[in-house]
Amino acid sequence: NLLLAGRLAVVTGGGSGIGRAVCSIFAREGAKLAVVDLNKKSAEETLALLPQPSDHRAYGTNVALSSEVATMVSQVQEDFGEVPSVAVHAAGITKDSFLLKMDEQSFDDVIDVNLKGTFLINQTLAKAMSKANLPDCSIVNISSIVGKCGNIGQTNYAASKAGVIGMTKTAAKELARFNIRVNAVLPGFIHTPMTEKVPENVKQMITMMVPCKRMGTPEEIAEVCAFLASSRSSYMTGAAVEVTGGLNF
Ligand code: NAD
Repeated sequence: NLLLAGRLAVVTGGGSGIGRAVCSIFAREGAKLAVVDLNKKSAEETLALLPQPSDHRAYGTNVALSSEVATMVSQVQEDFGEVPSVAVHAAGITKDSFLLKMDEQSFDDVIDVNLKGTFLINQTLAKAMSKANLPDCSIVNISSIVGKCGNIGQTNYAASKAGVIGMTKTAAKELARFNIRVNAVLPGFIHTPMTEKVPENVKQMITMMVPCKRMGTPEEIAEVCAFLASSRSSYMTGAAVEVTGGLNF
């Protein structure tokens, strides 16, 4: 009983970290994947890691640009001959700085990719899904525990991720009548290329604050995404699910 047998899923940020783990676990569960990343090469590398690469496709798309998102969504429909019924939106960036030092560009960039990107991916896919009249569609937006609790050095990022929660809850209310569920996952401190750049002493300090006393793996986030994407979570929408090993600052 595969969770996602035959489902077509769009995964943004699929070239790295959490998005890549989502691709591999969704493939294990029988999904066909449109692997989307700003860096097309990294999306292709993800494809090559999957058991049957020819079942899936890679797309180079900037989620912050409406024209690129529109092109990607119509290309996916053309390539697979169907409308995706699942989307996991994991593309995201950080540009950390203390509030008193943050420049305007760092604020704009993070809001553009993390928040506007979420708007564009959700709106464009929901339009296609609602037209297709599918029985159970699911959009999973990757927010962050930082969006709920804040984090030193991340005013831009925390604001963008709090925005993702508000957007998810609103989209859930608006889209339920089209059989589209929308949920957010709030990861804690996860071992990915994004957190590799955190200095070792800061990593140790954060890990000490995690009740489970370790960082999470991208696969531990992906397993929750698989549940939320599948019809096993058919009565869940508008939820903000924390996957943090107990960390909530
Ligand atoms: P990552 O840096 O490993 O992967 C992010 C991917 O997004 C990269 O492949 C990158 O190329 C892609 N990307 C960046 N900008 C893009 C754009 N404009 N258009 C398309 N793709 C773009 O990071 P990750 O840790 O795997 O993060 C995935 C998601 O999880 C992000 O939204 C991040 O904010 C969130 N998150 C991560 C953690 C963590 O501890 N790693 C915690 C909470 C939330």
